[in-house]
Amino acid sequence: MRIDAHTHILSLADDPAFTAAYGHEGSLCIHRSRGEMPSHRLPTAAEWEELESASLGFQLIGPAETIADHPSFDKVVALAMSPQYLEGRLIGTVDTSGVTGVEGPKTPERCNEYIAGCQRQAPDQIIGFASVNPAFRGPKAAVAELGRAVEEYGLQGVKLYPMYQHWSPADRDLAFPVFGAAQDLGIPVMVHQAGSTRIDASLNLGRPALLDDIGRQFRDLTVIVAHCGLPWTDEAMFLLTKHPNFYAELSYHIATITRRDLFLFLHRLEPFFVPLEKIFFGTDYPGFLYDPEALLAKLLTVNEEAAGLGLDPIPQTKLEGIAGDNLAAVMGLRANRPTAGVGSPRR
Ligand SMILES: [Zn+2]
Repeated sequence: MRIDAHTHILSLADDPAFTAAYGHEGSLCIHRSRGEMPSHRLPTAAEWEELESASLGFQLIGPAETIADHPSFDKVVALAMSPQYLEGRLIGTVDTSGVTGVEGPKTPERCNEYIAGCQRQAPDQIIGFASVNPAFRGPKAAVAELGRAVEEYGLQGVKLYPMYQHWSPADRDLAFPVFGAAQDLGIPVMVHQAGSTRIDASLNLGRPALLDDIGRQFRDLTVIVAHCGLPWTDEAMFLLTKHPNFYAELSYHIATITRRDLFLFLHRLEPFFVPLEKIFFGTDYPGFLYDPEALLAKLLTVNEEAAGLGLDPIPQTKLEGIAGDNLAAVMGLRANRPTAGVGSPRR
């Protein structure tokens, strides 16, 4: 089975212009590294506009677009982003176009209803993950919202964003109730314990090692470290060695390394005592470097690098496991009818 374990959907605020500006800051490092933007100052609005006209720009991603851009996949995990204030503005997943059928005022406080709406439109293909922010209205409210998201809306996991929301996953008062609730609900937790190029995000709070206390306390909880902990990939992999129910997904990391380095990364995991069964494929789609088909091909052809490096190839069944079977096994997902869904090709 082929699964993209990490995608985003809908808008990040009720104002599309803000969503575009947010995307600018996140992608600035990429443009700088390519020499498309000044490396020594922030770009002007005119410089952004010029670059934007040469690229695809920001498109609204709904369930149909997600499925259309994943033709080789059986399933796609769509992650909610819970509400938080950023520079005085409330952000989080919002359905600005009304594609999910959720009525009422458009607010990130209903992020989980919107993601459930996406899942309802393609229940065989879209796996909706809720999101809660215990620093927003407190841990009690976050736990109650998570319960609703799973039991009422039918969401199948939860994504947490500590570094963006300025709380620590090791905080016993704020974070532990949320992790404990996820364990009680029997759902996996995906945590963004990795870096971010957003200036406001706190790298200190992004360290994968902050999840160690979670692994010690919640022995039955399934934890998925997003982005393989990039740039602290060894730290994240060591957590997978240590904690039986810890996993990691490849998004972002897989896009920032060559296929040769991907081969070397995967090849050294087993000697590092990390079974390849603990690694899931993910893309961070719809970021513009994150074409799901190209990244899947990068993974599935990675053994073409073996001979040149004088190393044994990775068993193809293990690569297929990373491509989706591993996550399917952990979440108890079954294959469904062949991909044919609500989408039609977008470009
Ligand atoms: Zn992401």
